[in-house]
Amino acid sequence: MANEFLNIVGTLNEAQKILVVGHIMPDGDDISSVLSLFLGLKSLGKQVVAAIDWKIPSYFFEIEEVKYIKNYEEIDVYDFNPDIIVILDASSPDRVGRFSDVLNDFKVIVIDHHATNTYFGDINWVDSTYAATAQMVLRVNKELQVEYDERLSLINLMGIETDTGFFRYSNANERVFRDVASLISLGAKPDFIARMILENRRLEQFKLLSRMIDNLKLECDGKLAYSYLSKKDYEEFNCTDEDSGGFVGEIRSIKGVEVAIFFYEYVKGEVHISFRSKEWFDVSKVAFTLGGGGHPRAAGVTLNGNLEEIVRDVVKLTKANFDLKS
Ligand code: 5GP
Ligand code: MN
Ligand code: MN
Repeated sequence: MANEFLNIVGTLNEAQKILVVGHIMPDGDDISSVLSLFLGLKSLGKQVVAAIDWKIPSYFFEIEEVKYIKNYEEIDVYDFNPDIIVILDASSPDRVGRFSDVLNDFKVIVIDHHATNTYFGDINWVDSTYAATAQMVLRVNKELQVEYDERLSLINLMGIETDTGFFRYSNANERVFRDVASLISLGAKPDFIARMILENRRLEQFKLLSRMIDNLKLECDGKLAYSYLSKKDYEEFNCTDEDSGGFVGEIRSIKGVEVAIFFYEYVKGEVHISFRSKEWFDVSKVAFTLGGGGHPRAAGVTLNGNLEEIVRDVVKLTKANFDLKS
């Protein structure tokens, strides 16, 4: 395996105080990776703090260990004074929120699977052949001789399950199934994660979904589909941004669609854009052009401005990229 991997394992072995940091707008892979490394290092007797500078979606709290992840306000990094900061599943410093302000003052390890990673740490293990950062954390923990019980196995499995779209995406390869099989043999229950994330919807979500469908538009002979929701839509149905979590996947599920874009304005004037593609269109390139990043099949960015204008401009940019390739 990569030199960086061994360098990271050696560094973590020697460190006593470690801060493990995830990315803003945390997803299943991020929460899984942060908690798995946190629990692994703790089991080795180290002083560890796990933190994410964002509100964690409420459905993740069915895994009770999620409560150990601290908010930015709850910790003073200089007071804790870690030997090492480990950043997981984040491709650039802006993805760690306000933690980016302290990175210059500490030794930083980055473990990530995004091809768009900017190698912003002192040691960077970046490998986009992994479907999930959680698989990389699994290897770090194993090399550190961490013992896996049922809880750690379940928590580590979550990231592999969510970042492969519950084993539906093209990144669900043989190594994924081998890792999953080994975690299941250690006690992880994949159905628990699937129910927690996919079958935990509020009724209000369906009303919001209906509005999203009303706003749906198709372009490029039905190969590009997009929709949007405004701050007012969320307010009208008493919903939060958590409630629209799977909407971009719904758009992509339309027959014949290659690229799906979902725009949402949950904070007035701040528009998050989620890109997804099915087979060949590299959405990370479009997201990167706009200042964001991600993977070829799932990428995103947050832009400030007027929702309608952003929708118009981004659709135009995506269409231009379509024309280049089709
Ligand atoms: P989502 O659409 O679920 O918010 O994000 C999909 C993927 O795009 C994420 O897994 C993440 O890799 C990436 N992504 C989303 N937003 C941003 C962003 O603002 N900057 C970067 N670099 N990547 C993002
Ligand atoms: Mn992520
Ligand atoms: Mn990931």
